[in-house]
Amino acid sequence: MSLDQNWFTEVGESTGIAFSLRITGKLHDEQTEYQRIEIYETTDFGRLMTIDGYIMLSQRDNFLYHEMLSHPVLYTHVNPKSVLIIGGGDCGTLSEVLKHESVKSAVQVEIDERVTRLSEQFFPELCGANDDPRARLVFGDGIKWVTDSEPESYDVIIIDSTDPIGPAAGLFSEPFYRDCFRALRPGGIIAQQSESPLLHMKLISAMRRSMRNAGFSDLLTLNFPQCVYPSGWWSATLAGKNVALRNIRDQDIVDKSFGTQYYNLAMHQACIAQPEFFRREIEV
Ligand code: SAM
Repeated sequence: MSLDQNWFTEVGESTGIAFSLRITGKLHDEQTEYQRIEIYETTDFGRLMTIDGYIMLSQRDNFLYHEMLSHPVLYTHVNPKSVLIIGGGDCGTLSEVLKHESVKSAVQVEIDERVTRLSEQFFPELCGANDDPRARLVFGDGIKWVTDSEPESYDVIIIDSTDPIGPAAGLFSEPFYRDCFRALRPGGIIAQQSESPLLHMKLISAMRRSMRNAGFSDLLTLNFPQCVYPSGWWSATLAGKNVALRNIRDQDIVDKSFGTQYYNLAMHQACIAQPEFFRREIEV
């Protein structure tokens, strides 16, 4: 990461890509037990949170990621009542999940409490559901949480993690998916942020293979734009436990009682289309 006067620049050494946002200043800089969290004010994208120099979210475009990690999986499950979120410390995913009236409980397990506390301070609009009686905020390792979970205790598990390095590396592994499979009720579904189809196709193929090996019978990778992440093209991958992931609750999407900025029935139908290179490269 380099900071050149009025610009924040994220440098991707492995991808050969750099992405910059113009800033007016740095609002916060903190090294926690787990990672370095920085918050900037930008001229055009609102506030920006980075972890270890990598962009986590901006106020302007986080709705894309948070909506697409939450609503497609919740409108694919027949009746999601119990949701587990791993990571997601900025609380944007939690806030989207709790818009669903069917959801009776949502547990968020974030390893770094400081991410959540700073989000409450600098991104309060994402934290409006933190006091919802259905929400439970836990601070600890999501991998251990799933290992220790009772069998068949969740309908949906959303993995809203950082890139697969450091504490998040194990969240992309077959043993973790096996534990998720055990923790899900029949008909349960995982939704996991799965990086860029353009840049990280090998990772997506490997994730899907591991999910399949862990017992998941159907897999579906969703595509959506996210301009502050490398390549501007991002994905989430769903893995279903004895459930067909292309069957969605169409009418419930049309009748939804809450507002969204991106997600609707047509966007759901569009995001499950699989590009040709993608179809060729996935091995499962
Ligand atoms: N939208 C972001 C992205 O794709 O870059 C992710 C945002 S969210 C802030 C990611 C969170 O995952 C971080 O706060 C990080 O602390 C958390 N995390 C990483 N590994 C974890 C683990 N093993 N258990 C729980 N949370 C974890």
